Amino acid sequence: MVSAPTNTAARATPRFELLTLGDELLLGLTANTHLGHIGAELARHGVTLARNVTVGDAADSIAAEVSASWARADVVLITGGLGPTCDDRTREAVASVLGEELVFDPAIEHAIAERFARSGRLMTPNNRKQAMKFARGEALPNAHGTAPGLWLARDHKVLVMLPGPPNELQPMFAGQVLPRLAALGLLALRETYVQIRTAGIGESLLETKLQPLFDPYGDALVVAFCAHLGAVDVRLSSPDGQLDLPRLRQLADGCARLLGEDFVCHGQDSLAKVVGDLLRGRDKKLAVAEAATGGLLAAALNEQCGACKFFAGGVVCCANEAKITLLNVPECLLKQHGAVSAECAVALAMGAAETFGADYALAITGSATDGSAAPLAGRPAPSDADKPAT
Ligand code: ATP
Repeated sequence: MVSAPTNTAARATPRFELLTLGDELLLGLTANTHLGHIGAELARHGVTLARNVTVGDAADSIAAEVSASWARADVVLITGGLGPTCDDRTREAVASVLGEELVFDPAIEHAIAERFARSGRLMTPNNRKQAMKFARGEALPNAHGTAPGLWLARDHKVLVMLPGPPNELQPMFAGQVLPRLAALGLLALRETYVQIRTAGIGESLLETKLQPLFDPYGDALVVAFCAHLGAVDVRLSSPDGQLDLPRLRQLADGCARLLGEDFVCHGQDSLAKVVGDLLRGRDKKLAVAEAATGGLLAAALNEQCGACKFFAGGVVCCANEAKITLLNVPECLLKQHGAVSAECAVALAMGAAETFGADYALAITGSATDGSAAPLAGRPAPSDADKPAT
């Protein structure tokens, strides 16, 4: 049983901090996916991470950051450094900073020994280190590895330590940490923001267009723009809760209406997924023809779940001869307008639609060598000429 950290009720929103440990993160050898995963999971439960610090494996650096976070935050999450080797110093460093005693837990050792036995591996003496837990804390069982997580609720605060491997951490976070945090009233049953995804419009023009919708809300509304390759996201939140989630959703709907064709979706689905869902919903098929992108467009569509239901196929035709022989692009068109032209893109799309018997076709031409922008054509198949292009 854990006791509720009583002072968090006094603070409107509990402060969560995440310490991600490991020299390999600072060396750029491993991407810090725990920040993305834990940040997104918490955001789905009404919490915005206040801070993430990545720290190397040196015990004094770990101790300094744990001490600072523990002083500031209501919940401190620490990842990595729970392994059996000499560079895994997190337990000791944290125990020393918090003045906690580490005790050997035979039940944890037993679970580790069983895991080794099941996989036919030898359990070495250094593995016993993983059977240590805080005397006043709990161990969080690890179904996918040997290092259990550690949980400590003290001084109206919570400290959670989780193993580094994502396949171990993620189920532990979902199955053990989130329910415990929820039981303590530290999570909300709502997301912290709504987001819309746009394409075909730059972030400065996007802001200019949407600003009149945002103006009436003043400081109650926080708007953030995030540009990605080919898309710009708009995130709407109201940190002090003045605007509730239904109101934010209404506002996002208003943005979508105003943006028209530049609106892609609510949330963060990829363009390929949105296109695939639209086609599947209408029982239509798409074909593609690509020159400079060399199959990237086809791959993006192909990786969607159930792609064969909406993706008829694609042709990669870099050389002009391939455009002529595979997709019937007229040679005279290539001579007159060149391969990197809107006319060529349209001819490629028509050829792809005919070749695959698709309802719609998309074509991309461009120059791979100079990185110039690729004209893109979206064309309904000839038989569907009266229908709008996707
Ligand atoms: P182990 O028992 O495997 O030693 P550990 O708790 O000691 O687990 P680390 O040794 O720090 O964790 O890391 C184990 C693995 O998890 C490594 O492959 C490491 O790159 C990966 N890892 C650690 N932190 C992160 C992170 N923030 N994001 C993604 N992967 C991580």
